[in-house]
Amino acid sequence: MSTSTRTLTESALDLADRWVEATTAGETPQEKRTTGRLAALVSDPDGLALAVRFVDRVARPEDVHVAARELAGLTRYTGAAGSFLGPLDRALLTLGAAFAPALPRLVVPAARIRLRQLVGHLVADAGAGLGAHIAKARAEGFRLNLNLLGEAVLGETEAGSRLARVRALVERPDVDYVSIKVSAVASQLSTWDTAGSRERVVARLRPLYVAAAHHGTFLNLDMEEYRDLALTVQVFEQLLMDPELLHVEAGIVLQAYLPDAVAALDELTEIAARRRAAGGARIKVRLVKGANLAMEKVEAELHGWEQAPYRTKPEVDANFVRLVDRALRPERTSDVRVGVASHNLFHVAYAHLLAAERG
Ligand SMILES: Cc1cc2nc3c(=O)[nH]c(=O)nc-3n(C[C@H](O)[C@H](O)[C@H](O)COP(=O)(O)OP(=O)(O)OC[C@H]3O[C@@H](n4cnc5c(N)ncnc54)[C@H](O)[C@@H]3O)c2cc1C
Repeated sequence: MSTSTRTLTESALDLADRWVEATTAGETPQEKRTTGRLAALVSDPDGLALAVRFVDRVARPEDVHVAARELAGLTRYTGAAGSFLGPLDRALLTLGAAFAPALPRLVVPAARIRLRQLVGHLVADAGAGLGAHIAKARAEGFRLNLNLLGEAVLGETEAGSRLARVRALVERPDVDYVSIKVSAVASQLSTWDTAGSRERVVARLRPLYVAAAHHGTFLNLDMEEYRDLALTVQVFEQLLMDPELLHVEAGIVLQAYLPDAVAALDELTEIAARRRAAGGARIKVRLVKGANLAMEKVEAELHGWEQAPYRTKPEVDANFVRLVDRALRPERTSDVRVGVASHNLFHVAYAHLLAAERG
């Protein structure tokens, strides 16, 4: 490790500590309670299992009888719930699990309402309450990047409906930043026909990008699985080199858990340079570690392939720092704006200090 890297690392440790102190010092009692509950939930393996099961199996099913049966099956987690649910919620969960099969129409909606109350500060409802949620966050000094939750679409009807809902978000006067995914706007994307998939996705996204430009909304193309990497970069390039969109700044994500991210960063930098030379705007690249490790593993196992992401966390962390170091160079930042998205304060602090050092 060079002296400058060592000094920067030590400074990053100090800065991360100071951020944590500043955050906890400014917390309201309500925030302290919700942060404490969330920390207890994620540090308890049963807590995470309960949360995922509740959301996937009780909150999601359209049929209340299915949801009720699943709610009844949650009793084996109520013991663990002691670490993150208060006595009242624990009692409600036990009662709900016991009465759900007999009174599904009463118990399931009540359980869903309570869930919304508990996670309302984490996930906003895209329906009627969104305006108030955005206004409140703005008033507190936050800038929001909205992401319409949902998995990859399976059919064209759903793809059209998702695109229409994203467009409605983009066109809202109180929204200025929206994230989208290629797999949410076109179904059955083929990895054997990247060019065909690109044409299909671009045809869907172009009107959205034109609308976003018109409304002053920033669009970011999120990255999902390895198989979407080449497609997403190509879609991004085709959209951003379109003469009508040349002056629009837009973003894309790169995942450090993919060894291929370094080459992709170079490719995007080259696209950005060409765009700037043609009189266009900069692009933004958001660096993340990658959220779909489990899915990548399943995909690799099913096909008997080597998994696309690195196999260990240290390798991923090292690649993240490598990407940050590579991206934050004046010859690149003139064309590429760099975003660093991580919950890991040490890495955010490192990137922050490196950016300052490099001017
Ligand atoms: C604002 C924002 C936007 C984001 N956008 C995207 C996006 O578009 N696409 C996307 O994929 N993710 C996105 N993420 C999520 C991100 O990729 C990470 O999954 C998440 O932030 C956790 O990583 P971390 O750096 O915060 O935490 P850390 O705890 O430092 O790192 C956790 C990450 O390390 C990696 N990891 C952990 N264990 C292993 C292992 N055994 N082998 C290999 N790798 C391992 C995984 O990538 C895991 O997510 C976003 C996150 C934020 C905050």
